[in-house]
Amino acid sequence: MAMASSQHELGPKDWHPGSWLAKPATQQPSYPDADKLASAIQTLRSMPPLVTSWEILTLRQMLAEAEEGKRFVLQGGDCAESFAECDSNTISSRLKVLLQMSVVLIHGLKLPIVRVGRFAGQYAKPRSADLETRDGVELPSYRGDIVNGPEFTKEARLPDPERMLKGHSHSAMTINFIRALIDGGFADLHHPEYWDLGWVDHSPLAREYRRMVEQIGESVRFMETLAGPIGNFSRVDFYTSHEALLLHYEQALTRQVPRQTGFFNLSTHFPWIGMRTAALDGAHVEYCRGIKNPIGLKIGPSVTVDQLLNVIDALNPNNERGKLMLIHRMGANKIVSALPPLLEAVRKEGKHVLWSCDPMHGNTESTSNGFKTRRFDNIRAELDRAFDLHQAAGTHLGGAHLELTGDNVTECLGGARDLSEIDLTRAYKSTVDPRLNYEQSLELAMLIVRKSGR
Ligand code: PEP
Ligand code: MN
Repeated sequence: MAMASSQHELGPKDWHPGSWLAKPATQQPSYPDADKLASAIQTLRSMPPLVTSWEILTLRQMLAEAEEGKRFVLQGGDCAESFAECDSNTISSRLKVLLQMSVVLIHGLKLPIVRVGRFAGQYAKPRSADLETRDGVELPSYRGDIVNGPEFTKEARLPDPERMLKGHSHSAMTINFIRALIDGGFADLHHPEYWDLGWVDHSPLAREYRRMVEQIGESVRFMETLAGPIGNFSRVDFYTSHEALLLHYEQALTRQVPRQTGFFNLSTHFPWIGMRTAALDGAHVEYCRGIKNPIGLKIGPSVTVDQLLNVIDALNPNNERGKLMLIHRMGANKIVSALPPLLEAVRKEGKHVLWSCDPMHGNTESTSNGFKTRRFDNIRAELDRAFDLHQAAGTHLGGAHLELTGDNVTECLGGARDLSEIDLTRAYKSTVDPRLNYEQSLELAMLIVRKSGR
């Protein structure tokens, strides 16, 4: 008996934070120097965590409520953060966009919003090839700032384990600034004017947004006239998320904490498994199945019903609510045939999952002038169809997962200003995937409101 209960405290049977090492681990860098790797891991293991177990458990509760339709989850941020852009302007602008989108959602959905940033740790990227060739020169692919550098030089592309320490410290700086902004009242619903981005006044969507802000202001004032000051409006919370890709890093921040059972990944509130690393017998599922955090799982158009049900059982064997978010990323066309059988099977089997739609990653294409882009119309169409397909299946779409930035970039085509291929040459800054700019993000938030039919 004693054995059984202590096993339960540690996590699932046969699992420990390093059990992934015995499984095939795809998308990992080949570090040239094993001693340097061991020493970086050792240092990382002694570093303070970035989040706490009680924050993680609070988020799990919120995700459980989102599953029941009582909250909506807005998850968004860069495809990849970079060390160079760990600055106050980038961080606060991204926060402003997410706050503005959540105002639109609160106003339209009449639901509390769970805000989850793709930030404070979104530094590792899966790649389609290990090597990149330019002008006959072959070098390792860029795998995110936590692994190597984006510059196309031999030095930059060499995986360096000490970058994990930099990843940890840049994540800590980011989360520290976000927490300070929020504690200082930056996210106070009484003061949405704090979130103005300089050039918003010229946006075609400005008027609609301002109208919503005014109405929310009035509702807040009205409720406070009746009920007195409402603390919740002075403080909104943000949670962090990133792709749990670089498993040495994730393992080093996986800890037990006093008065809690099991292991928590304390590098982020909400790790997710990317589409390329979701194999049932692979290292990423092995690592994630043992931690107490809620887990996201990206699912693409080629996943079968059996594969999905097996991974669900591996990641959430006790079928707990608030544990597993399935983030479908099918593409605007494929979603119509690929999603319904999955929705049907998960519903029929009574699996508790929170469904979210990532309308970005299935809609990536290249332009004739060589840019990796996404068409706003396709992004919008996928999200639009996702709502309809869930409704037809009797399931509930409880979240959206977006790549966006507060910078005025031109990376995705179309939207309120109808950006063209020529516009992409103007302000294309992403080193990886194209992101929605402020207006395109706000427009999508407005679409979510329209589609949810409230
Ligand atoms: C991402 O979220 O940046 C990503 C690589 O997504 P996916 O695993 O869905 O392709
Ligand atoms: Mn991406």
